[in-house]
Amino acid sequence: MTDVAARLAATNARIRTLAGHWGRDPAEITLLAVSKGHPAAAVRQAAAAGQLRFGESYLQEAAAKIDSLADLELEWHFIGPVQSNKTRDIAARFAWVHGVDRLRTARRLSEQRPTTLPPLEVCIQVNISGEPSKSGTTLDALPDLARAVASLPRLRLRGLMAIPAPAPELERQREPYRRLREARDALAVRGLSLDTLSMGMSDDLEAAIAEGSTLVRVGTAIFGPRPAADARA
Ligand SMILES: *Cc1c(COP(=O)(O)O)cnc(C)c1O
Repeated sequence: MTDVAARLAATNARIRTLAGHWGRDPAEITLLAVSKGHPAAAVRQAAAAGQLRFGESYLQEAAAKIDSLADLELEWHFIGPVQSNKTRDIAARFAWVHGVDRLRTARRLSEQRPTTLPPLEVCIQVNISGEPSKSGTTLDALPDLARAVASLPRLRLRGLMAIPAPAPELERQREPYRRLREARDALAVRGLSLDTLSMGMSDDLEAAIAEGSTLVRVGTAIFGPRPAADARA
């Protein structure tokens, strides 16, 4: 077994264990393997071990990987910030986009989604810790944005995504994820049901699963540490 295959198996086992511990059905929790910063060969190893969904944050890096792995049937998720000059390529190359946080980019993604492909699955990113410089809509702006995004013809609004400020212990890690879950529930009361909570990474997996995550985005625990971001900018 390769290192990647072994760590992937350990991650899947950890998700099952945590689901059991927190009274969740493990079948409700999808693992997205975040391959940013790692070569196509590592993705190939994970795919050979059964992992078919991968997340990338940088369009150029992702495009090269997607092309070199075109012989595999993989599902690609764009999890980085969506810049408006990149929407055309993102709409053409990905099945999911997790970082939608304004109507303007959502409209562009909808207009540019090729008609040969099914609608683009999207999550709205919420700046759940209220950090001034971070991506994501505010909780106040969420209901109007969600309604508008849900009405775009070539997008399918699936859920909410957040990257909270890091916190050292479980209880503090759970707070922002609880707020995101409550925001999802509040939208359902207003008639907008969403099936996806995209939350949880290598370091806060338990908090996210405890609060109802349906899609965890795990990189380091599967692929090991990434080279520094500026080394690949
Ligand atoms: C990099 C990244 C992850 C994965 O983080 P790890 O700590 O390596 O598991 C998850 N989500 C987003 C949005 C990311 O950019």
